Amino acid sequence: MKLLYVLLLAFPLSLFAQTTYLLKPDRVFDGETVHEGWVVRVKADKIEEAGPATSVSANGAEVVELKGTTLLPGLIEGHSHLLLHPYNETTWDDQVLKEARSLRVARATVHAQKTLMAGFTTVRDLGTEGADYDDVGLKQAINQGIIPGPRMIVVTRALIATGSYAPKGFSPDVNVPQGAEEADGHDALVQAVRRQIGKGADAIKIYADYRWGLMADAQPTYTVDEIKLIVEVAKSSGRPVVAHASTAEGMRRAILGGCETVEHGDAGTPEIFALMKQHGTSLCPTLAAGDAVSQYRGWKKGREPEPERIKKKRVTFKQALDASVTICAGGDVGVFSHGDNARELIMMVDYGMKPIDVLRSATSINADTFHTTDRGRIKAGLLADVVVIEGDPTRTISDLYRVKSVMKGGVFYKR
Ligand SMILES: [Zn+2]
Repeated sequence: MKLLYVLLLAFPLSLFAQTTYLLKPDRVFDGETVHEGWVVRVKADKIEEAGPATSVSANGAEVVELKGTTLLPGLIEGHSHLLLHPYNETTWDDQVLKEARSLRVARATVHAQKTLMAGFTTVRDLGTEGADYDDVGLKQAINQGIIPGPRMIVVTRALIATGSYAPKGFSPDVNVPQGAEEADGHDALVQAVRRQIGKGADAIKIYADYRWGLMADAQPTYTVDEIKLIVEVAKSSGRPVVAHASTAEGMRRAILGGCETVEHGDAGTPEIFALMKQHGTSLCPTLAAGDAVSQYRGWKKGREPEPERIKKKRVTFKQALDASVTICAGGDVGVFSHGDNARELIMMVDYGMKPIDVLRSATSINADTFHTTDRGRIKAGLLADVVVIEGDPTRTISDLYRVKSVMKGGVFYKR
């Protein structure tokens, strides 16, 4: 008890920002545009002021010279699974079925630290994949300063239609634990949504389709009415619903049902993307996940032609851009290594976006889309979540790997 008391006393020293800083990079990307010669004044956990060096006072501030760098809002990862690790290390099935939750949580604490050090100060973590509500405790451990990590938006277990998800391929005589919570129909869905909210979900995630077709192909799961019900119940508490959907019909149902983001969207069509635009549904394309999985299956990237799946993804991503669908930035990190989150942003440029548009997606657009407008921009009054990059990622996106400093809530985690 005495030890606990001492620990609690010690926390505010490191966890809560006290210092006033004046950060002096070469330029500031404010979440929307680039400003050469701007500086940023941070007081406690907030941005106090940002503007031309001549107009922002250094009085009472510790001046931090950051020559040769670009300062950006802390990056926001739109699709992570901190409780998963790359499938070429351990298959998804084996992670769900054979790894103790304590092992998975232990790994997740390391993943959280790597994510933060890569400059990602917020993650929208889209499902524990069999680890129950362990994202809730992980988020609490970060918020209480027990472990370093990003701010977390969590969905807990996620919802699946009975029989549709995985692991599968076992005897029908045994019940195999699933990677998300099965619930269908009116009463069970209402209860499951409310239970997940009660346990700590910030958003509800559903699988609008999955590979449960006759040919193990992706097919829709929930009906539009079921999705509408999930959305209605979640919205009553102010929470959004996000949908995994890769088929055109799964996407259509997610959009018409009122989901705010569609994850993956691989088999979208011009008509479906037009529907997304019309309904204001955002696309989180997860380019890096497909890229990683294709390589795990043997594709030698750079030495062999791109597989069909990758070629098709390039086409549909371009269709989404042409339809002016709002693009979130999220890679499905966990399928590939935590800390390598920039891989998605680099691929977004490779697949046709301008670097500055990608950076907008990973900052202001993700913040707006995820209802976290207290961050994602360099603006007075917002949280002092900041990443300092050597070079200029607004021109050369791969500079995102050159992280010099990371600040979250006015505290330097990397300096
Ligand atoms: Zn995912």
